Amino acid sequence: MGSPSDHGQEPPAGLAICARCAAEKDLPLGRCPGCGHVPAAEERELAIVCSTRILDVAALRAAQERIRRGEPVRPTSALRAQARAVLTGHAPTLARFTPRQVAGLVIANVVLTPLLGYAVWFRYRTRPGPAARQALVATVPVSLALLVALVGWRLLFVSVVETAH
Ligand SMILES: [Zn+2]
Repeated sequence: MGSPSDHGQEPPAGLAICARCAAEKDLPLGRCPGCGHVPAAEERELAIVCSTRILDVAALRAAQERIRRGEPVRPTSALRAQARAVLTGHAPTLARFTPRQVAGLVIANVVLTPLLGYAVWFRYRTRPGPAARQALVATVPVSLALLVALVGWRLLFVSVVETAH
């Protein structure tokens, strides 16, 4: 599904539009350069929705058109929930494991298989935050140690078998 109306313009980082006049601004909660409006109270949620924090550029442009036509912007409850999460700081922006979780992953890597740790890394590799790196730190040394142990054991085993002859 192409988007023929996409002009290939890269949006500036953090584009937002005013929910009142559709003017563009840098910060969703900042003062609108067009009408001077500053989102307050429950308007903040809508202001966050009307930004690239929540919408992609195409959807943001569509919202901009609606506002310019005088139509109300009615974000879905899911989008509003996302905006609330951004406002309350609970947005899933940073994935981070607690020390307990890291310790648990190390133990699972040792007791079960380091493939577990690599699976965790794979799952979190595109998520912002230290989680993917934490998973690797908890996994790579374990898998290397197991590899060394395996190779060492085989060498020892072979040498034992050879000396037995
Ligand atoms: Zn405005």
